[in-house]
Formats: sequence, C-alpha cells, structure tokens
Amino acid sequence: MSLNIDQIRGLFPVLHQEVHGKPLIYFDNAATTQKPLAVIEALTKYYEFDNSNIHRGAHALADRATRYYEETREAVREFIHAKEAAEIIFTKGTTESINLVAKTFGSKFIGKGDEIIISTMEHHSNIVPWQMLCEEKGAILRVIPINEAGEILYEEFEKLLSPKTKLVSIVHASNALGTINPVKKVIDAAHSFGAKVLLDGAQSTSHLEINVQDLNCDFMAFSAHKLYGPTGLGVLYGKREVLESMPPFLGGGEMIKEVTFEKTTYNEIPFKFEAGTPNIADVIAFKAALDFIKDLTKPEIKAHEDSLLAYAKELTKDIKGFIPVGTAKEKVSVLSFNINGMHPFDVGQMLDAKGIAVRTGHHCTQPLMKRFGIEGTVRASFAVYNTKSEIEKLAEGVAQIARFKN
Ligand code: PLP
Repeated sequence: MSLNIDQIRGLFPVLHQEVHGKPLIYFDNAATTQKPLAVIEALTKYYEFDNSNIHRGAHALADRATRYYEETREAVREFIHAKEAAEIIFTKGTTESINLVAKTFGSKFIGKGDEIIISTMEHHSNIVPWQMLCEEKGAILRVIPINEAGEILYEEFEKLLSPKTKLVSIVHASNALGTINPVKKVIDAAHSFGAKVLLDGAQSTSHLEINVQDLNCDFMAFSAHKLYGPTGLGVLYGKREVLESMPPFLGGGEMIKEVTFEKTTYNEIPFKFEAGTPNIADVIAFKAALDFIKDLTKPEIKAHEDSLLAYAKELTKDIKGFIPVGTAKEKVSVLSFNINGMHPFDVGQMLDAKGIAVRTGHHCTQPLMKRFGIEGTVRASFAVYNTKSEIEKLAEGVAQIARFKN
C-alpha cells in the first residue's frame, strides 16, 4: 500500500500558499518540517481547556495536563523502542540534549587525557559542547575522517579507538549530506573499549525506524520540530543505569526529592533532569506528531522519500554544471549540491523566486564544508508531503539557473 500524498498534504495548512506568486514548494525539511493540523489543534486545545502546571497540582486540570504530558513520554518511548518511559527526558532540542550529556556525564566521567570521538560530518551542536568540555577537562577530541562520497572511513575510526576513549558522539544521518552512518557497527566497536555512545538523531528519527535497544546506544538526542512536531522541544534518551550514574543538569523545582539548607537529594529519572516548569504545551502537542508518523508508518514514509530522492538525482544528474555534494550509498532524502560558477546563496534566492524553499550555506557543518573545500551548498531536503511534480519543478529551476554560467 502506498501513501495518499494528496490526502497527507491536506493535513498541512501551511503548504497551501503562494510565495512570490508561485505555489510554495517546501524543500527545507531538514531545517524544520511543517506541522499537521492535529499538532496545531493540540496546542490550542491545551491552552483553551487544559492549561495547568504539571506533577504537583491537586486539581482536575493539573491531573489532565500531567496525564497528557506523560502520555507523550510513553509515545516517545514507543517511537524509539526504549525499555522504559523513565529513560525519556524532555529538553529544548537536540542541542540542549547533547549539552546536557556534556555537562553531566562529561563532568563526572571525562578527565584529563581522556578522548572523545566525533566525525567530520557533525553539526556544530555535536562539536562545540565537546570542545568546551575538552578545554575544561584537558581531554582530547578525535575526529573520524570521511571519503569524497561523504562516508566515514570505518577503519580509521577503529584506529582511533583505545582504552582512553570515553565517548563516541556521532550523527546518525547527516543534515548536510544525508549520509546514514553505520552506527550499529560504531556502537559495538566503541563498547568493546568500554566507551559510551551518543547518537545525534536529529535527522534520522524522521526517516528511519529507530530501536535504541537493538542499536544499544547509550544516548540518543533529537528534536520534535524536525519530526512534524513543535519547536522548542527535544528528547534525550539515555539508558537507565547511565542516566542514574550522572549528576543533575540544572538545579531547581521538580528535580529534587528533598531540599534542606544542609543537603538536597535528587528526584528519580527522568525528573532529575527536568528542572523547573517544562514546555508542557509543546510536549502534549508532540504526541499528535508522533501519532501522525505512526499512522503513516516509517517504512512507508521512507519508501516515499527514497523515491523522491532517486527521482531528484535522476533529473539533475545530466544538468551541466550541477555538482552533487555527498554521494553516499546509504542516505536519507537530502540532495546537497552546488552549481558551477555560482554562490549557493544566489542559487537559493533564484529558487525562492520560483516559490522553491531550500537552505543554502554551511548548514552548521563548517568543518565538513572545509573538508570538501567549499563554502557551502544548496540543500533540498524532502519530507513525506513532497511530490514528484515538485521534484520536477526543482530540476527545471536548477537547470535554468545552471544555464546562466554553464
Ligand atoms: N544535529 C543535527 C544533525 C541537526 O541537523 C540539527 C539541526 O539542524 C541539530 C543537531 C540541532 O538541532 P536543534 O537546533 O533542534 O537543537
């Protein structure tokens, strides 16, 4: 059974508009996906009927809000097949999730001379927190090199591993190239040296079936807004025993068991890591996004997006001056490219004039751009509501633009 894309598009109000007098074609999904009506309605419903602080109220609204909030936690557990809901921590986003691990796990378990391994294709949010930690602790950051296709050199990764390795933090699917990394192999190899592994799932969770127990990762970080959900919300998954071994992140309400001026004892996970009033409305609305994905099913979503990517590659491959960036065998639906003789920003503006929204620049992966010797790329990233006819318009637009200089 294949998806009814027209019907799916009907669920996304934002898609039905014109930009510069042209129907909007939204290909900036790796930056953030659009939200189905069910998510928008869940947000307004919460504020219209249920608004209340959670976990500590003795009244009906507080009970209701708490129940909905915790239902989302359970839905996230199911979404990534975690063992228990207590292993799901709500954060502001992937960035905060990674910083949380750097500040807590890092402060306790990483010391002078210890090593952290990342890859060349990391997003800045999976580079900078580790650099800050290394600077503070005198630890060392090691970087897995990549080939011209944008794939990690696995043998080089193996050479970097040693008993000094305390953490491997790697992107599951690259936002700039689309490359899907062989994370299962990476995790098994890292574990054989006693290192923990964090997966940056910001880009993988919307496309791939995720089972954190099968993967056996110690942490996974991702953002709701790239999963058809609200902004300002993310998830940190951690194995119970690892989370329990870590000190808290922020101090305040909710994360404590008992406070005296002499000594404070901390709450159980996940609450130990959720200090203060959380982003209740967005957590509750996120469930509608997870239900949307569940109804369509990940394999159907992936099959549709794969067919869009294959079609886009086919239609662009013979365009004179078209330079694909990132040609890995295993990819999520990201088409990154340059046009010979043109700045990516100019290409992006010309596509925008045609109603086609893409992202241009370094995609928060400056070291990766440096590796390829380029300033940036044009990135078209596809989601479940995109269509083949939109891909045709992109290819026509790119061909027209390329003709200026080629
Ligand atoms: N990691 C990757 C691979 C990303 O694509 C992004 C966002 O683009 C992030 C991390 C950071 O996510 P957020 O800005 O939602 O915290």
